[in-house]
Amino acid sequence: SVSIEGVSKAFGKLQALKFVSLQIERGEFFTLLGPSGCGKTTLLRTIAGFEQPDHGRILFNDTDVTSLPPWDKQIGFVFQNYALWPNMNVFQNIAYGLKIRKKSAQEIAEKVRWGLDLVNLPGIETKFPEQLSGGQQQRIAIARALVIDPQILLLDEPLSNLDAKLRISLRKQIREIQNRLALTVVYVTHDQEEALEISDRIAVMNLGEVQQVAAPDVIYEEPVNLFVADFVGKTN
Ligand code: ATP
Repeated sequence: SVSIEGVSKAFGKLQALKFVSLQIERGEFFTLLGPSGCGKTTLLRTIAGFEQPDHGRILFNDTDVTSLPPWDKQIGFVFQNYALWPNMNVFQNIAYGLKIRKKSAQEIAEKVRWGLDLVNLPGIETKFPEQLSGGQQQRIAIARALVIDPQILLLDEPLSNLDAKLRISLRKQIREIQNRLALTVVYVTHDQEEALEISDRIAVMNLGEVQQVAAPDVIYEEPVNLFVADFVGKTN
């Protein structure tokens, strides 16, 4: 599980996160939902260890990881853009995290094959990112994140640069992979429909604060305040 305990983060005078506390269960698909600038990405980056909070703690399975950098933790990360290294082929992209963890050549080869099968793109090891569609690139980025057997998978708007039809098909694939591997996922999106479809639970954020944490149907049917009602509720 992931515990976020009273996390605050300021950039100059801007309070990006205001005393955020959340508990994410093992095997849960948990979504941070909110408008642009509400602090979702900052919170995800803080969980990963790319940012240090001004106050508060991050725990993975009861261990304090607040000050650990991302590469010292078992986390997978998929970003919105520039997901893959353009100068490396698919094999090298997926293998990177295994190489720096000093895995054997045989284990790397097996894991890369496992990752490509997982995202349904077998046999494209020697292609370069520019030869792949946007959706294929994001699937490779997901494979790359998963071959290191992460304790948690962090996804920051992984579908927002794709067209609507592809977004729907890919979010089903992401959810299916999450189920199959029983992954703990923290997913960032500003898309209400996507959050309602893909999540076990959603934290709705605004102006650096969590407004409501609940299952999608509860968020939709019983928003706790006007902001949540406007942003996701059925009156929307
Ligand atoms: P978006 O979807 O647009 O990325 P978000 O909800 O993910 O929005 P954040 O990216 O977390 O929001 O940003 C929260 C606030 O903090 C914004 O006002 C943003 O401009 C500011 N911010 C984020 N990172 C920095 C930084 N490194 N330096 C200064 N301000 C920052």
